[in-house]
Amino acid sequence: MTIHFIHDDTYGNWVLGATHPTQGRRYLHAAALLQDIAPAAELDLKILPTREASRAELSLVHSQEYIDRVLVDFDGGAWDGGPNRELSRLASALFGGTMVAVEQVRVGALNVVHLPGAKHHAQANQSSGFCVFADFAAAATALVQEDGRKVAILDIDVHHGDGTENLTRENRSILTFSVHQTGIFPGTGWVREDDHEHQVFNRPLNAGDGDAELLEAVREFVVEAKAFGADVILIAGGADGHAEDSLARLNYSIYGFNRAVGLVREAFASTPVIFGGAGGYRPDDFTPMMWVSAICALGGVGPDGVEALDLEGRIGGIVASVSGSTLV
Ligand SMILES: [Zn+2]
Repeated sequence: MTIHFIHDDTYGNWVLGATHPTQGRRYLHAAALLQDIAPAAELDLKILPTREASRAELSLVHSQEYIDRVLVDFDGGAWDGGPNRELSRLASALFGGTMVAVEQVRVGALNVVHLPGAKHHAQANQSSGFCVFADFAAAATALVQEDGRKVAILDIDVHHGDGTENLTRENRSILTFSVHQTGIFPGTGWVREDDHEHQVFNRPLNAGDGDAELLEAVREFVVEAKAFGADVILIAGGADGHAEDSLARLNYSIYGFNRAVGLVREAFASTPVIFGGAGGYRPDDFTPMMWVSAICALGGVGPDGVEALDLEGRIGGIVASVSGSTLV
């Protein structure tokens, strides 16, 4: 199965502070782990470069004032230490990579992955929750406006996808369905919501919930997305619901996460999927393992297949070789 994987090694520089939870090396570790397992998993990886965003693309969801603040004043409001030209450029490239994913869908790609994608907390006029530009909301809007598609967004990051939801709520051709822990950041989505008029769905889970609750919610997403008539699916695949992730208290395993994405892939066998990585704060082990496990599901590899790939056994060597290759 072919996986179109958008990547750039400069993603490793997406570091919002020395001790900040967001560390860009998670992207390098995931890319290296994915390339390592691809032959055994029979994944045909097509690696594509990112590009910077255009102003027109950013304007789909952001105000001119905010775009200027980030791209001209180099102030994303998301990083420590004041204006930063490199992080501003990277914020644009993180958004642009998801636009490359949209272009791949337009030419017929089925499985497209951009791990720095799904910055789901960013709002029209400000960054929020480590997210500067709202790439998923913009991608969905572009697919509706320019291609006449109906887009369903499944958000299985541990936090409510408030930015994506806010920026697309009035667009009846975009469905959002967020599964997340209740009672934590960003302070919204804490109540179950089934708004069929706006196609907005929220499934708050409780601290301690795990794979079973995730899979039940994803089955409900499949029902709603089928009824809606989705012809493109975006998955905000935050890895921060893993049991060992430090920012929240859900108990997903890499196998449950694989199964969740597999349920979508099986129910929508010929529908293009764009997978974005959203959050994940175990850069040296569980975050890359969760993402690679999910990508395996897009490629038709289930939990047993993932277990046979021995991600746990491989990740230590992968992390060591990535840090070795980036040391001068
Ligand atoms: Zn998150």
